[in-house]
Amino acid sequence: DGSEAMATQQQTSSSPIDNGMPHSARIYDYWLGGKDNFAADRAVAEALMTAIPTVRSMAAENRHFVHRAARYLAGKAGVRQFLDIGTGIPTRPNLHEVAQQVAPETRVVYVDNDPIVLAHARALMISSEQGRSEYIHADMRQPEMILNHRTLREVLDLDQPVALTMIAILMLLKDADDPWRKVRVLMDALPSGSYVAITHPTGDFNPEAVKTAVASAVDSGMTLVPRSRDEVARFFEGWELVEPGIVPVMAWQPDDGEPADPHAAYYWAGVARKP
Ligand code: SAH
Repeated sequence: DGSEAMATQQQTSSSPIDNGMPHSARIYDYWLGGKDNFAADRAVAEALMTAIPTVRSMAAENRHFVHRAARYLAGKAGVRQFLDIGTGIPTRPNLHEVAQQVAPETRVVYVDNDPIVLAHARALMISSEQGRSEYIHADMRQPEMILNHRTLREVLDLDQPVALTMIAILMLLKDADDPWRKVRVLMDALPSGSYVAITHPTGDFNPEAVKTAVASAVDSGMTLVPRSRDEVARFFEGWELVEPGIVPVMAWQPDDGEPADPHAAYYWAGVARKP
C-alpha cells in the first residue's frame, strides 16, 4: 500500500546504495548468477574464487541448506513463524516460498541491512494468501530494534514458536561486535519450542585456502570471520540440537543420502530447539 511505499522510499534515501565498497549480499548474488552486483563486488567475488575455486558451488550448497531447513522446520518441527536475519537479495525459491509450500499459513519476517535488499523487498513480500511475508530494514547488531519493530510485532506472535534463521550472516560480524550476545538476545525473546538454524563459514576444513580468501576480503575493506566448530557451537548453547547436530552443511539432513565429500563446502550448519 501507499504508506509502505513511502516508508520504503524514506529508508532508501536515508541509506543510499553505495557501489564503491564490496557488500556480501552482492558478492553472494554474483556467485549465484544474479545481476545485483557492482564492479567492487565482482572484484572481491573473483578474488575469493581464486583463493577457493569451488566457492560458487559452496554458496549453492548453503542455499540448498536454506531449503532443507525450511522444509524441516515447517514440516517435521511444525513451526509456523520464521524470523530470517541476513536475508540477502531474493533468490527463488525464497525461504517463505519453501515454508509456505509445506504450510501455506506460515508467517515470515525478513531482516537485512543492505539497501539493495531493501530495494527488492517487494519480491520478498509476495506471500501465500493464508500466510504473510514482510521485510524489516535493520541491523542485527541492534537486536532490540528488530524485536521491538512494529512490523515484527504485527506479523509474529512471540508467545508461539518461531524459527530464527541466520544463514551465512554471522561471519560478517566481528568478534568485537559479540555476535554470540546479539544472537542470544534474539533467542531469549522466543518461547519454548522455538528453533534456531545457523550456517557459518569455517577454516576448519581447509585453513590455508580460507586464510587467503579472508585476506583478500579484508584487504578490500570487508569483515569476514570464519569460525571454528567450537565457536559455532557456542551459538546453540542451552538449546537441543536436532539430528545430525553441528555438521558440515552438506551433511545436514541431505536429500540424496550422505554426500561423497561433505567437507567440500566450508560451512558448519546446525539446527536446535529451545527446551
Ligand atoms: N541468508 C542468505 C544470504 C546470505 S548473504 C543466504 O544464505 O542465502 C549475508 C546477508 O547478511 C547479506 O544480505 C547482508 O546484507 C546481510 N547482513 C550482513 N550484516 C548484517 C547485519 N549486521 N544486519 C543485518 N543484515 C546483515
